[in-house]
Amino acid sequence: MARTTGAVCRKCRREGLKLFLKGTRCDSDRCAFSRRATPPGMHGMKRGKLTDYGIHLREKQKVKVFYGVLEKQFRKYFGLAERGKGDTGKLLLGLLERRLDNIVYRLGFGTSRSHARQLVAHGHFLLNGRRVDIPSYLVRPGDVITSRNRSASIKAVNEAILEAAREVPDFLLRVDEKIPKGIVLRMPAAEDVSLPVNAALIVELCSK
Ligand code: SF4
Repeated sequence: MARTTGAVCRKCRREGLKLFLKGTRCDSDRCAFSRRATPPGMHGMKRGKLTDYGIHLREKQKVKVFYGVLEKQFRKYFGLAERGKGDTGKLLLGLLERRLDNIVYRLGFGTSRSHARQLVAHGHFLLNGRRVDIPSYLVRPGDVITSRNRSASIKAVNEAILEAAREVPDFLLRVDEKIPKGIVLRMPAAEDVSLPVNAALIVELCSK
């Protein structure tokens, strides 16, 4: 399982934008990128202009860090997108957006994607009434994600909802009942991705 370890704020500074890897801290004035938006490292500022390859690579790395996926898994999504009908870049983003850990995050059930992934992996959720602990599971329209009916799960999810206070995108519906519930209303599209990304550059890089 891909995990973002170490000083994750460096990754935002490296990519030159906020990737929201640290939960509520990202929206606070403690955000490292808001305070110092320069590339990390002693010579961060001195690094020259990116090459064409570098521009393509940074675009891919940005998406991988944002969703917390490793190269092997990313290539798998790219292969699926390539075989799908339509624009490969948009299909790729749609696939990443369908990951269960991302859906849990976007429903506000986790404070960050890594927190959401941890909650999923620890078995705090049911998908259509069945326990699922696979963060990479790809959801479909009509899928219902609920917190497990046990106090530890309900407490963890409710705390995250309160802490994150996140707006739910319109392809999802959150029902704030005693047991928090989320419904996937439709397939997420590339337009639903909250990261500014040029998917065409990623397709060019990965197709070589
Ligand atoms: Fe990025 Fe700021 Fe969040 Fe750190 S706190 S992960 S710099 S958005």
